[in-house]
Amino acid sequence: MATSFGPNSRAYCVGGGIASLSAAFFLIRDARIPPANITILEELPVNGGCLDASGDPAIGYVSRGGRMFEEHYVCMYDMLKDVPFASTSALSSRDDIFFFNQDVVSDARCRLVDSGRQKLDDSSYGLSWRHLLAMTRLLLFAKGKTQKKISDYFPDSFFSTVFWRLWTTSFSFQEWSNADELRRYFLRFIQLLPGFNQFLGIQRTRYNQYDALIEPLQNYLRESGVVFQQSTTVEELSFTDEKRLSVNGIRVRRSGSIESIPVSESDAVFVTLGSMVESSTRGSMRQAAPAPSLPGSSWTLWKSISQSVRRAGNPDVFIENVAETEWVSFTVTQSDPAFFELIERITDNKPGTGGLISFVESGWFLSIVLFHQPFYAAQPEDRYVFWGYGLKPHGTGDLIKKRMVDCNGEEILLELLHHLKFDETEAILSYSNCIPTRMPYITSQFQPRSDNARPQPVSSACSNLAFTGQYVELKDDVVFTVEYSVRSAMTAVYNLFDVKKKIPHVYKGQYHPVVLWNAIKALLR
Ligand SMILES: Cc1cc2nc3c(=O)[nH]c(=O)nc-3n(C[C@H](O)[C@H](O)[C@H](O)COP(=O)(O)OP(=O)(O)OC[C@H]3O[C@@H](n4cnc5c(N)ncnc54)[C@H](O)[C@@H]3O)c2cc1C
Repeated sequence: MATSFGPNSRAYCVGGGIASLSAAFFLIRDARIPPANITILEELPVNGGCLDASGDPAIGYVSRGGRMFEEHYVCMYDMLKDVPFASTSALSSRDDIFFFNQDVVSDARCRLVDSGRQKLDDSSYGLSWRHLLAMTRLLLFAKGKTQKKISDYFPDSFFSTVFWRLWTTSFSFQEWSNADELRRYFLRFIQLLPGFNQFLGIQRTRYNQYDALIEPLQNYLRESGVVFQQSTTVEELSFTDEKRLSVNGIRVRRSGSIESIPVSESDAVFVTLGSMVESSTRGSMRQAAPAPSLPGSSWTLWKSISQSVRRAGNPDVFIENVAETEWVSFTVTQSDPAFFELIERITDNKPGTGGLISFVESGWFLSIVLFHQPFYAAQPEDRYVFWGYGLKPHGTGDLIKKRMVDCNGEEILLELLHHLKFDETEAILSYSNCIPTRMPYITSQFQPRSDNARPQPVSSACSNLAFTGQYVELKDDVVFTVEYSVRSAMTAVYNLFDVKKKIPHVYKGQYHPVVLWNAIKALLR
């Protein structure tokens, strides 16, 4: 695309999640924009978006999620190789992840647990020929069928197989999710299928992803001169009247007042569209997380842009069915190692080496993960933090006869202990602080959608506007990943600024005969 941008161009990145921080990074490294010309506008007082981590030993820690990566996160690693892990160290953030995963190897020995707390045998995925035929049909014919649901392709029996239970708890697909996204996932992660029941090949970060990714990247950008404006909500963009639009202003709200930032034709605006953690709310040990106030500013901003700009997508399809897109996660801070020791005994995994432990008969479809400790860079030695979530938070609990969304931290912990069948309930409650979080849009990116619901990162409709994040269209790659947000930022910057560098290809294991053969063998076993 012909570009009117030059070294004096300014760039505004709306949102302070990994997509915007990556856009700032690629603008500096690859488009050669002076860092001081780049401004990040973030609604909250902290950056990071989904990649959050807050709290302390006294009030309890909270992370809305914990992340799994794998080696083909090529855009993310292309960036992290040039980001120091700490400003005082020569080690890059990428190398820190590689070294950490050499020391703490993922090898889960207890993925699925039944109502009697028995480990389920997951050595066979339990797929029949009918299921395999349905999978083949999906791989061959679901491409582009973004309105179809997974249940349109598979018989009911598929959803109680070991394979589906492993899949749905690992990636959060539901029966009603978009079939084409599942097709993309099967292809993108085909190399993981042989060891999928053990989480082989999964990479994790040393600490939570705020401390391990956001903090180093943000420090690097700040020290380079990038301007951060937090507690600043972008409410609207204004546009010129011409046939080919350009953004000429950004209306922001901060400290209760409205301001307008002028934007010239040679400036660029990068907007992270939508957010899967938008409008999330937090409870406590005694209080359930309050009902979210919907839809929240990222969706409102996208709606307003889509009314002015052609081909800017359709946010409504992602957010109109909260009962289908919500889950509840919870973070538990403990002051005694006893719970971790009990879990280690039943799973045979040291913290950080297991995967999710999923209670497949739980009415809320509960799963927990015991991360490598400390999970927070500043976590004291006598604190232990684990995380869990309920994939079906509108279902009824088995001990607590309520929906998970209506439960406080203590009730969620009691329900979990009921499934774990530990006798030490009172003792565990006495040293645990469980903080629940409601996320109404957490799987919104998997919703069936119309063809044009996701816009391209850059289009000819507007000369100085680009879109990033989980709701843009990127060929072959998969949403609900950090890689997708980083790739969207790279694509947006390279296309808008005409950067003559190649964007790394999405990994395609199906064209590697050994990978393909091993995957087929795994599905048949
Ligand atoms: C629970 C959970 C588990 C996950 N697990 C994995 C995993 O295992 N592996 C993996 O790779 N990925 C995982 N992900 C996905 C990954 O974390 C996200 O895809 C990625 O971090 C999204 O980044 P983003 O910058 O695109 O959007 P976000 O992180 O959503 O950032 C958007 C930002 O924009 C701000 N904002 C919104 N509206 C406005 C406005 N109007 N004005 C100013 N600012 C605004 C928000 O406050 C937010 O900071 C998970 C995510 C969650 C929540």
